[in-house]
Amino acid sequence: MKSTKKIGKSTKAIHAGNSHLSEIGEVSMPIFQSSTFAFPSADEGAARFAGTKQGYIYTRLGNPTINALEENVTELEGGYKGFATATGMAAITTVYTALLHQGAHVVSSETVYGPSRVVLETIYAKYGVESSFVDTSNLDNIKKAIRPNTKMIFIETPANPTITITDLKGAADIAHQHKLPLVVDNTFASPYLQRPFEFGADIIVHSLTKFLNGHSDVVGGMIVVKDENYYKMIRPTFTSFGGTMDPHQAWLVLRGIRTLGLRVERSQENAMKLAQFLITHPKVLWVTYPGLPEHPQYEIAKKQMDGFGAMIAIGVKNGLEGGKIVMNNVEIFTLAVSLGGVESLIEHPASMTHASVSKKEKIKAGISDELVRIAVGCEDYEDLRNDLDQALNKIL
Ligand code: PLP
Repeated sequence: MKSTKKIGKSTKAIHAGNSHLSEIGEVSMPIFQSSTFAFPSADEGAARFAGTKQGYIYTRLGNPTINALEENVTELEGGYKGFATATGMAAITTVYTALLHQGAHVVSSETVYGPSRVVLETIYAKYGVESSFVDTSNLDNIKKAIRPNTKMIFIETPANPTITITDLKGAADIAHQHKLPLVVDNTFASPYLQRPFEFGADIIVHSLTKFLNGHSDVVGGMIVVKDENYYKMIRPTFTSFGGTMDPHQAWLVLRGIRTLGLRVERSQENAMKLAQFLITHPKVLWVTYPGLPEHPQYEIAKKQMDGFGAMIAIGVKNGLEGGKIVMNNVEIFTLAVSLGGVESLIEHPASMTHASVSKKEKIKAGISDELVRIAVGCEDYEDLRNDLDQALNKIL
């Protein structure tokens, strides 16, 4: 879009990236299902490779459909440029690989998506990368964990699966005092509810698989950088490691993003009502949802988010046994990992999404056996409430 300053979030979600439409007049971005692009002359091909002329070369290096998606998410986040990746994990590992080196150290939230943490502890550790996992909801823990060799601060807020919130501005200030980049996994909020660049973040990563695509039918990821410096730092890893997206995948995500505003509004409205219902339910011991004043970081969530999102963590009577009864008896909720789709899902992080995290670290990070994670979708609220109610009432 020519001028995006005063444009609203839903308008951006629907129109951003449209500069890639052709003069034919199509309204929906076509799928450029081509692995390579013809050069009009040998000199032009050489110039494109040299970077002295703009133009497409090969889909791993750039493709109009993928670029439209990159531009769309970049505008939603208010960033400089984006890189669309095959999955959310490809986005995260591309950033890790580009920013870290042998002997480098990372400070990360202790509660992050399981593989985002485990890949540092296992694979990157093999190459001499050190990492510290701390409760970043307490900013002092970030300060204390920084070492002379720290090269990056990585946070996830709201965090998977404890729905812990980290103060974005506070974390960015600490990072910048130490001349470090703050990388934020913004998957749980989506740019519709939270734009970390507004609070000082340097790089944002997403699993597009979740709210941005929104239909549980595609995996994908995105890196958005705040400036050219980070763009230059990341691009060689992005293009050479090959975790890039496919044009058809990009088209599906673009199609999903068009309804981002409608889906997020509906699912978070359902989530707020469900959280308020669950907290009064006799079979529920505790509820963690940032929209409840009882949430320990409720005030920070209000400050940095436009809404409280659609993710809830609960603990039920009889711990894991009780949780299993709920998960095995829901009829409208689906027992499945992932989140951010139009359908509501329920899962058990300790044995599923976070199974790869060690028992000791899970306990420290609050990923208890009794925690059941609920990803609220866009169904009718009464049906979701009644479904959870009947499943909870099966706990004796
Ligand atoms: N970040 C968060 C917060 C996630 O929840 C996930 C997946 O669940 C990922 C990253 C990884 O995304 P993907 O599964 O698309 O690789």
